[in-house]
Amino acid sequence: MEKYFSGSGDGKNKNGAMVEQLQRYGVFHSDKVAEVMKTIDRGLFVPSGTLAYVDSPMPIGHNVTISAPHMHAMCLELLKDHLQPGMHALDVGSGTGYLTACFAAMVGSQGRAVGIEHIPELVIWSIENIKSSAAASFLEEGSLSVHDGDGRLGYPETAPYDAIHVGAAAPEIPKALVEQLKPGGRLVIPVGTYCQELQVVDKQQDGTLTVRTETSVRYVPLTSREEQLRG
Ligand code: SAH
Repeated sequence: MEKYFSGSGDGKNKNGAMVEQLQRYGVFHSDKVAEVMKTIDRGLFVPSGTLAYVDSPMPIGHNVTISAPHMHAMCLELLKDHLQPGMHALDVGSGTGYLTACFAAMVGSQGRAVGIEHIPELVIWSIENIKSSAAASFLEEGSLSVHDGDGRLGYPETAPYDAIHVGAAAPEIPKALVEQLKPGGRLVIPVGTYCQELQVVDKQQDGTLTVRTETSVRYVPLTSREEQLRG
């Protein structure tokens, strides 16, 4: 895939060009995903000086990266039916806050979008990013929140969730996340250590799970804060 998007003009135009190119390449198909990715400008969620619209992960400090645009797009596409207005969504390892903001824009003010992140500095920074974005009103109203904590335990306070996204690779699917998924809900999570697969876990109405692999991926690990900072 071509790595550099041919945006021009201000950030919003470059963001729009990036989204259109991802859609043309077939990374996602739905207009709903295009709309939310155009609404939430990725450029507001990266450190200044970062090439925001390049299709690559970028360092955000603390030994981690913001995921590449095509991964964000793929996860939004996989979760879109579970991010309808009024639904509840959890973003584990919310980092920059970008996907949490997208979730909030999709579930709307009657829904709930929750980010959980174990680096307190990233929690504070992500809230600033969100405030500068089109998702600011959801933060003000309280339908969007970001919390400092170990995402392997989920966030029981606002469970159960229709959609759970994990932005870091777990050695195995954390039990707490499956427990906090609604019947009919979907969890998208990279699983594995060196070799990783993006797994899609659907909880049926009777509580049974179906698990399938979407694709091979490379994410930073879902781990303890100490382990991550040790590098
Ligand atoms: N999805 C985010 C960040 C991806 S990087 C984005 O695209 O901006 C993965 C994030 O997971 C990092 O911010 C890292 O600090 C966080 N993380 C790793 N292990 C975690 C854990 N156990 N609990 C909460 N967050 C964790």
